Amino acid sequence: MADSPIYLDCHATTPIDQRVVEAMLPFFTKHFGNPSSLHHYGWTVEAAIKKSRATIANSINAKPEEIVFTSGATEANNLAIKGVAEAYFSYGKHIITVKTEHSAVLDPCHYLESLGFEVTYLPVEPDGLLSLSSLEKAIRPETILVSVMAANNEIGVLQPLKEIGALCQDHEILFHTDAAQAIGKVPLDVQELNIHLMSMTAHKVYGPKGIGALYVRRRQPRVNLAAQLHGGGHERGMRSGTLYPPQIVGFAQALTLAIAEMASEQERLNGLRSHLLTQLNQLPAIYLNGHPTQRLPGNLNVSIDNVDGQALLLGLQPVVALSSGSACSSASTAPSHVLKALGRSHQLAYASLRFGLGRFTTTSEIDTVAQAVVETVQALRAV
Ligand SMILES: *Cc1c(COP(=O)(O)O)cnc(C)c1O
Repeated sequence: MADSPIYLDCHATTPIDQRVVEAMLPFFTKHFGNPSSLHHYGWTVEAAIKKSRATIANSINAKPEEIVFTSGATEANNLAIKGVAEAYFSYGKHIITVKTEHSAVLDPCHYLESLGFEVTYLPVEPDGLLSLSSLEKAIRPETILVSVMAANNEIGVLQPLKEIGALCQDHEILFHTDAAQAIGKVPLDVQELNIHLMSMTAHKVYGPKGIGALYVRRRQPRVNLAAQLHGGGHERGMRSGTLYPPQIVGFAQALTLAIAEMASEQERLNGLRSHLLTQLNQLPAIYLNGHPTQRLPGNLNVSIDNVDGQALLLGLQPVVALSSGSACSSASTAPSHVLKALGRSHQLAYASLRFGLGRFTTTSEIDTVAQAVVETVQALRAV
């Protein structure tokens, strides 16, 4: 069998770090209790969950009681957006979000529109950043929620959370951010950024799939949420269902590692990313998508002119696993809604490559991939 292709799709998911697996293992068989049980088996697991909850809370400068475990960021986004809509509709039925959000934010918003809410989908600048003045203009007396992602999953752009948070605070509007791509990669402090709700997931940061959390602010202001899953009243009634201890312990371990290694990883990935871009720039008519510096260190997204996007991806497949656009939209044939929002033509939105570099990416892998891209593009352009 041929070697597996090089993995450069870290925005879709990441492999679990071996150190995370080690932390999880005892919780499958030895410590298998239900954390709600009032006996030895339950207490042991409950203690581990308590510790993990505190670790996760600390990593974003929150309190342990403000962490609500979910199955991932999709569920956290649904809980935040639908939960706020249901709890606050008597104050107003207007929500503001952005065109470049993940479908796990856009689709709950579309759903709320079908229930009679009004949603403003703000455009972005050509570099992918939200303009604060357009946000401020969109705010109405009946606006109850602003939802703007921390880091984009296609172009890696980091939105100005601090300024958005300050604006929301001035207008007394709740601020939710989808931080699925940002946690463990860039510093996030919910106090400093004035965030009220924040969605997180473990599997983009070398943790297990199927676990995430929603940060829900408890003070200044105390955020009310309508539960979307009803049952035993777990997670202070906001999300019923037996907790999944191995995943929670793994999530905490993954975040601990990511935060400890954040500064050195940022530097290493920035270096690898510019090394990749320099080599790709040998090609004429290649365009960077998204802000050149205000983006995730491991993200590079380019559009390549005069080449068929599908043929390019297909040609690269034996060498490198990457995608065009997001994992969720790449199965469909529509061009990326994010690249369209940047004003890219249909053709350039199609012929785009999203490189997601990560913890295990090496310089020699980048060299191999860069060479494969250059050669494949040259071959396709020659025909
Ligand atoms: C991956 C991702 C999600 C979905 O997270 P899951 O944990 O897979 O449900 C949501 N938002 C963004 C920005 C993402 O990158």
